[in-house]
Amino acid sequence: MLAGALVVKNGWHELRTHDHDVQELSELLRSLPIHGPEALALPNFRSPDSVSRKTTDFASNHRLYAGKATRCGKPTLLMVKAFTEREAEMLQAARAIEEGISSGELHSIPRDPDEVDAAGATAIEGRLLVRRALARERDPKLRALKIKQARHGGRPLRCEVCDFDFGHAYGDLGEGYIEVHHVTPLYASGTRETKLDDLACVCANCHRMCHRSRPGESWRTPAALRELIRKSTQGAAH
Ligand SMILES: [Zn+2]
Ligand SMILES: [Zn+2]
Repeated sequence: MLAGALVVKNGWHELRTHDHDVQELSELLRSLPIHGPEALALPNFRSPDSVSRKTTDFASNHRLYAGKATRCGKPTLLMVKAFTEREAEMLQAARAIEEGISSGELHSIPRDPDEVDAAGATAIEGRLLVRRALARERDPKLRALKIKQARHGGRPLRCEVCDFDFGHAYGDLGEGYIEVHHVTPLYASGTRETKLDDLACVCANCHRMCHRSRPGESWRTPAALRELIRKSTQGAAH
């Protein structure tokens, strides 16, 4: 994603090994808190050479490139497509990752077992953005405030997507239970403070479906998921 952002900002042209931006990105990538010591010990791991090669993959697989495309993996092709179709969004996502790295925020957040699902980490939210989003959702103060807001005036605590009510389904055990989800994708919100309106109360199933990664797709908002359910139950009725 970060190499793709460099290429886009360079007018979809590749960058060379000695370019300042390439050198800098190489250092940044090597500093990410997602690599094991074995990877870092490899001489060419995220080296300026390998970064430059990645920019060539991006540039030469773009539809406007006149020459022959280099061979590259599917994740890179998905990124090329995403940057072509949703340039502004992808540049913002790249910026959110860069900000997270330079602020040190990403280094202190532990891995989450849910951050990558069966589809791998090819959705727009890279692993680091996922980690950051889930860490924010676990903020106990924000959760409590959101739940208080949702129950304001004696309203029942229900999933905003499917109306599931834990208290109703599980009695005492489920009373007061709900999951709090970040509506605004992290790439869009960047490092700004989370507001209560950025959060939604959802049941465990809907929460999972909001986050489920799919190649080239960002997470679904509760509103989009509600629409999906409506369409799919409509389809089933026919
Ligand atoms: Zn639900
Ligand atoms: Zn969530």
